[in-house]
Amino acid sequence: MRTLLSRLAPLALALAGAACQGTNMYTVQDDVAMGAAAFDEVKASENLIYSGPQYEQVQRVTERVVDAAIELDPEISNLFAWEVVLIDNAEMNAFCLPGGKMAVYTGILPVAGNDDGLAVVIGHEIAHATRRHGTQRVTQGVLTEIGIEIFTEAAEFSTDQEERELATILAEVGLGLPFSRDHELEADRVGLFYMAAAGYDPREAVGFWQRMSAGGTGAPPEWLSTHPSDVTRIQKIQALLPEVMPVYQAAQISDS
Ligand SMILES: [Zn+2]
Repeated sequence: MRTLLSRLAPLALALAGAACQGTNMYTVQDDVAMGAAAFDEVKASENLIYSGPQYEQVQRVTERVVDAAIELDPEISNLFAWEVVLIDNAEMNAFCLPGGKMAVYTGILPVAGNDDGLAVVIGHEIAHATRRHGTQRVTQGVLTEIGIEIFTEAAEFSTDQEERELATILAEVGLGLPFSRDHELEADRVGLFYMAAAGYDPREAVGFWQRMSAGGTGAPPEWLSTHPSDVTRIQKIQALLPEVMPVYQAAQISDS
């Protein structure tokens, strides 16, 4: 029935639009609780390193970049219980759960190279948390499910083959778009400001992503699989540097 589908289409598109605009059905307290619960599981199932120079480096850099995030985005950052663990795993990976619970894999440390390179990773992950990308993604998943159901229901009532196909295409393409590409670019941008405010050289981000790109053989790690192309992200980072460098320079001056 054409009328049913045409009446439901705006609703489904509104859901898709809401998902696009970073709608979040969870509270910040949910972020903290969900992240903490998931972090307990990470700690129970992974091989964690609790001492040594790599552990100290990860703690040192995280502490400084978290301080910068608290300075730049105090409303949200002060509500989180920030924590980072070092996982003994050769994968070039890192992640941040909602609420500020982070993990760095030993495999990414050689790619980071130094504290500035590691600050690129940490800044990016902290930005995912302060921008609440994790629970936004869950929200998008729920909204997408609802949207697909609406279209599927509508398509079942439809007698027109073309309309059924259109419903399927709209459900899959319109609602299932990889929003996380935007999240990745936003995490890059916000993370760059965090690291710069912490006194780490944001120009290091260019080299870091070139090294990640060169080392990226085999299955892409979590944070590359949904990522924009390396060329796009490196270009965007380079375009941001004129804006970010003064933040870095100001942090240098206040340090000395
Ligand atoms: Zn990411």
